[in-house]
Amino acid sequence: MVFTERHQLMRKLARGFAERELAPIAGLIDETGEFPQEVFDKMAKAGLFGLKAPQEFGGAGADTVSYVIVMEEITRVSATASLYISSPNSLSSAPLMLAGTLEQKKKFIPAAASGKIVICFALTEPDAGSDVGAIASTAVPDGDFFILNGRKTFITMAPFSDYAILFAKTDPKAGTRGITAFMLDMKLPGVSCGKPEKKMGLNGCATSDIVLENVRVPKDSILGRLNGGFSIAMKTLDIGRIGVASQGIGISQGALDEAVKYAKDRRQFGSPLAKHQSIAFELADMQTKLTAAKLMVYEAAQMMDRNENATAQAAMAKYFATEAAQQIVDRALQIFGGYGYMKDYPIERMYRDSRVFTIYEGTSQIQKIVISNMLLK
Ligand SMILES: Cc1cc2nc3c(=O)[nH]c(=O)nc-3n(C[C@H](O)[C@H](O)[C@H](O)COP(=O)(O)OP(=O)(O)OC[C@H]3O[C@@H](n4cnc5c(N)ncnc54)[C@H](O)[C@@H]3O)c2cc1C
Repeated sequence: MVFTERHQLMRKLARGFAERELAPIAGLIDETGEFPQEVFDKMAKAGLFGLKAPQEFGGAGADTVSYVIVMEEITRVSATASLYISSPNSLSSAPLMLAGTLEQKKKFIPAAASGKIVICFALTEPDAGSDVGAIASTAVPDGDFFILNGRKTFITMAPFSDYAILFAKTDPKAGTRGITAFMLDMKLPGVSCGKPEKKMGLNGCATSDIVLENVRVPKDSILGRLNGGFSIAMKTLDIGRIGVASQGIGISQGALDEAVKYAKDRRQFGSPLAKHQSIAFELADMQTKLTAAKLMVYEAAQMMDRNENATAQAAMAKYFATEAAQQIVDRALQIFGGYGYMKDYPIERMYRDSRVFTIYEGTSQIQKIVISNMLLK
């Protein structure tokens, strides 16, 4: 894959930002669960939230490959920080770009791209994760309003979001054809968030339920058409998968870099670990898997940039890159021996942070359903 000069510059800028602003505090963010506002502001100022937003809506209008590169470099250092970038570039801007009116685009995209507002993506429910058609939240028409009831679960950034792109049933008997997307103002009466979840990793970016109790939402809050929400959710997840795949290659690169450094420094049996061929071969395996994963992710991104149908490619990239990340980070931790199990080295945090990559935005099993459906149809 040949990157353009612009891509190379993006990588340089993103790596510089990650090393300068994130590396010194990534461990502290994990430990305290607090993401400093000033770093959030710096990310906004650096344009990281508006990478993919079109220039007419205040963004940089960068391509998907650029987005992948930035996500990769940021995740390499802090997976938590990458969530703040993926949200405005992907799960919140994609539905607006796909289905929003010009008024909605003008209102929400520049504000999210500049970090003035935060928008979360609320699809999952306690009894409907992989099975999106089973969501039970309802939106019932009432004059110029809809009345929303239900509960969303595991929603990234919900506790501090200004708006949610929230999916509810407007025709409960119609299954996936009865779902509508709403731009929900999180300050409306009847909207509340559960307590932030205590998570294994990605600390410093709160995840919680959203509870809806007779929330009156104006009719013009609908995103796209009535009962057209399922297709918006699926198309958004197509785009979102490339972001999670980039998190997979980013964290793998971070873990591999740490493992190489440690294997050269740590001596056992009179020589550096790297001189033991079984360790060197382990590193070779990690590098090979990571290179394959990168090629798949870049290819899916390029297909998106060429406006080709990248559904299967993005699913394969997410599946392969995030499963590879589990193996690479695990083997990196093994190279650290007992020290890898301690919080003194970032590898322990990477191990916990990476675990969710095969789960959110469609589990590996769901990716296999997508891939095999495309193959067999
Ligand atoms: C940290 C975190 C952040 C999240 N952020 C968000 C967010 O911002 N917005 C949002 O809407 N959601 C979010 N989610 C939810 C996430 O997308 C779901 O957890 C995920 O889609 C899986 O759903 P589930 O947890 O209900 O598992 P289930 O759907 O119950 O699946 C359980 C297991 O069964 C497997 N399985 C299910 N169906 C099948 C099948 N047909 N064939 C084979 N295997 C199957 C799954 O692969 C999985 O291994 C987040 C989750 C986490 C953990």
